[in-house]
Amino acid sequence: MHQPGPGRAVGSGGYHVGIDVGGTKVLAVATQPARPTHELAAVEHPTASGPDVLAVVGRALAEVRAAVGPEAGPLLAVGVGMPGMVTHTGVLRYGPHLSGAIELDIGARLSAEYGVPVVVDNDGNCAAWAEHRVGAGAGHDDVVFVGLGTGISCGMVIGGRRVRGVHGFAGEPGHMTVLPDGPRCACDRLGCWEALASGTALAEQARRAVAEGRLGRVVQLAGGDPQAVRGEHVTVALAEGDPATVQLATAFARWVALGLANLVNLLDPAVIALGGSVVDARAPWMTLIGRAYDDAVLAGALRPSTSLVAATAGRRAGAIGAALLAAESVPDLRRPAV
Ligand SMILES: [Zn+2]
Repeated sequence: MHQPGPGRAVGSGGYHVGIDVGGTKVLAVATQPARPTHELAAVEHPTASGPDVLAVVGRALAEVRAAVGPEAGPLLAVGVGMPGMVTHTGVLRYGPHLSGAIELDIGARLSAEYGVPVVVDNDGNCAAWAEHRVGAGAGHDDVVFVGLGTGISCGMVIGGRRVRGVHGFAGEPGHMTVLPDGPRCACDRLGCWEALASGTALAEQARRAVAEGRLGRVVQLAGGDPQAVRGEHVTVALAEGDPATVQLATAFARWVALGLANLVNLLDPAVIALGGSVVDARAPWMTLIGRAYDDAVLAGALRPSTSLVAATAGRRAGAIGAALLAAESVPDLRRPAV
């Protein structure tokens, strides 16, 4: 049987666009319902701050539509994942990583401009939906996604449904306080989990260690410039087994595991899918985090273990999940109000 190659449409029944707005980039992908992980087209731009992000999202949508071409049929619906607190009506109430963007009515704006239904949710919720439907949590009804990147994004699928809360703001464990009076977070509070366990926090911890004269190998990997040290340099030195780096990474893994254990104590999921820049390298980090998690979770020896696994929808998870949500939400959006 003939299988269409990458980028080819399967029939002309239409397609969906999923847009993932992150702290550093905006990624738009086009997919069709029959093959939700197969990209017809993808476009990526750097994120803008504040309300300017709306223009970047609009541009990404226009470009991905142009790239899809006519053979896929019409654009059916758009899903957008935003990094922050998103209301049930698609308004970004607050996004700490978009220079404090507030009250962006992104759903209504895009819908009016393009004449298609638009679904907006938190970026972590979109990624969790992708992991639940087509990723590491496929086949399970209780799946949590945790992304360690600029901040910590999270989404929770419990009993096969996204947990959004009464206002839409549930699922922000990145801002659980885990160290009172700890480092300042992007949300301006002290000691949030993401201020200690995000990719940004890892880079800061590494630069502090460098300033104290440790982590010579990491500085070497950063081209000899202490200010250029980033998380990926730590990951490389960790994979090499550099002792000072292993020590730093072990301490960082404990902060990651502390938050994961809190989530498992609270939700008892079957799978936690870990994504984001920190665990892209997978093996060394997953081993350290898994070991620290076993020590941190309640009654670890007496409970069936929650699978801590690398997210498989990868860096596209948020966009693919947003497209899936758009595809599944369209019948609701088209139902007349009563
Ligand atoms: Zn915070």
